[in-house]
Amino acid sequence: MKEQLELLWELQRIDLSLKKIREERERFPREIKKLDERENIEKEKIQKEREKIEALEKERRQKERHLSSEQEKIKRAEGRMFEVKTNKEYQALLSEIEAIKEASSRQEEEILQILEEIDELKKDLSKREKEVTATIEKIEKEKRKIQEKMEQDDGLWKEQKERREALSKQLKSDLFKLYDTLKEKRQGIGVVNVKKETCQGCFVNIPPQMFIEVQKNNSLIRCPNCNRILYWEGDRKSK
Ligand SMILES: [Zn+2]
Repeated sequence: MKEQLELLWELQRIDLSLKKIREERERFPREIKKLDERENIEKEKIQKEREKIEALEKERRQKERHLSSEQEKIKRAEGRMFEVKTNKEYQALLSEIEAIKEASSRQEEEILQILEEIDELKKDLSKREKEVTATIEKIEKEKRKIQEKMEQDDGLWKEQKERREALSKQLKSDLFKLYDTLKEKRQGIGVVNVKKETCQGCFVNIPPQMFIEVQKNNSLIRCPNCNRILYWEGDRKSK
């Protein structure tokens, strides 16, 4: 019986590990999807800032083109100064030039403002880019960790399935059946460790005499409360 109980205990641990892998297989793809989404949000953040800078650059170029055409107008108007005949014409031309010059200097002012704004945004952007790069690196690292774990899980799954197969052949069929039924009914745990006279499945105390018997691992003893098969793993810490 002792050997049978030990095999059963090993089977239980394998089943728990398989259960954990099943849960991870369900959870990991969702986690990766969430990380991908976070990564995209980060990328979008800088993308918007880049677009804003591009729009301002475009505005600046337009204003500069406009400014240089205004300056052409001034030159042409100044050229006409020698052709005017009357004082009235002269005054009219002067005020025309004055008006264009005023408009131009406003344009220059605006261009300077845009340039300053672009400078500020670029400074912010390079700071943000560094932050985003660091965040993305972290996210990528998390993703790699999960992917590695998934690969490990695949290997472990195969290994443990094989071991389970072997164990189920070594176990007496009625014991195996009992374990399987209990496992189904009791949240995946059919055989359970006992510590300090307490069943570790339902955490109810077991009678002292029973505890003595359990520690021998020599007979099939079941928890009076939850019905699980009791196993003594020794005093060392169990996982
Ligand atoms: Zn119990």
